[in-house]
Amino acid sequence: RAKSQHGSKHFYFTRGLGIAIRERVRMMHALRRGFRRGELYLAYQPQVDLDTGHSFGAEALLRWRTEDGEDVAPDRFVPIAEYSGLIAEIGEWVLLQACRELMRLRAAGHTGFTMSVNVSQVQFRHPHFIDMLRRVLQETGAPAENIELEITESMAMEEPDVLAELLAQVKGTGVSIAIDDFGTGFSSLSHLQRLQVDRLKIDRAFVSEITGSARGSSIAEMVIQLGRNLGLSIIAEGVEDERQAHILRALGCRKAQGFLFARPLAPDALLDWLAQPH
Ligand code: C2E
Ligand code: MG
Ligand code: MG
Ligand code: MG
Repeated sequence: RAKSQHGSKHFYFTRGLGIAIRERVRMMHALRRGFRRGELYLAYQPQVDLDTGHSFGAEALLRWRTEDGEDVAPDRFVPIAEYSGLIAEIGEWVLLQACRELMRLRAAGHTGFTMSVNVSQVQFRHPHFIDMLRRVLQETGAPAENIELEITESMAMEEPDVLAELLAQVKGTGVSIAIDDFGTGFSSLSHLQRLQVDRLKIDRAFVSEITGSARGSSIAEMVIQLGRNLGLSIIAEGVEDERQAHILRALGCRKAQGFLFARPLAPDALLDWLAQPH
């Protein structure tokens, strides 16, 4: 290392960066190995109708428990999977598992049930994504109309023309589309109008603000109004208490998911939960 007046600063910088990269590389290897060894699994969080209390669907959420028994949050490892390219393989596996679970639920009598699957930006823009989607639907027999893909709002912002075309192709398969974490990005109205989406998911941050102050519900209110004007379905995520559910309903939001109703559940626990009256 060349010595200079700023040498120590550089040293700190490269050292900090080095640790971050080393940690990322370590996690990438652990994830690849963990995926092959079956350390990934899905949990399913019920989505409910606020008017009737009935559950009409669930969101599949990816989980990773390492061989040491450590749970790694998807917010931490999904970016690593994207960065390393592993996301295409993992994402396909997620869709396959979710479709299989949907078929198991249908066999148990939950025929109208829908399954929401998160799709990352990198995965979605993969050249064979649509082929993969069609193949998984065909292989599992999952009805396209009971599958929903969730893309994040930030993702909806990039390359609007490319995205519009991709969404049109997804719609062509019969699968629906929800925009996840809505309200956290800056989608313009005209942009949103051009995209063939079916549902907006109000981000948890705005749901938790609802009970805080007089203006706390303003973003949730705006999203609900926007959905109504564009003819889109609205679902609130991260609903944790009765007051939030009550206010959302009063604002015209009919659907929700959150700890108030159920946490993400293992497949058998979901079946048990669905069998109970709510
Ligand atoms: P998301 O899709 O917005 O999922 C909602 C997150 O909120 C989940 O966190 C869920 O467990 C959590 N949650 C649900 N209800 C409540 C509540 O009432 N209170 C609180 N505090 N949290 C609640 P999770 O499972 O850790 O997932 C985090 C993010 O990771 C997801 O956000 C999604 O962006 C990503 N993710 C999860 N599974 C997948 C996947 O299969 N593929 C991709 N690409 N991303 C995934
Ligand atoms: Mg989601
Ligand atoms: Mg979300
Ligand atoms: Mg999120």
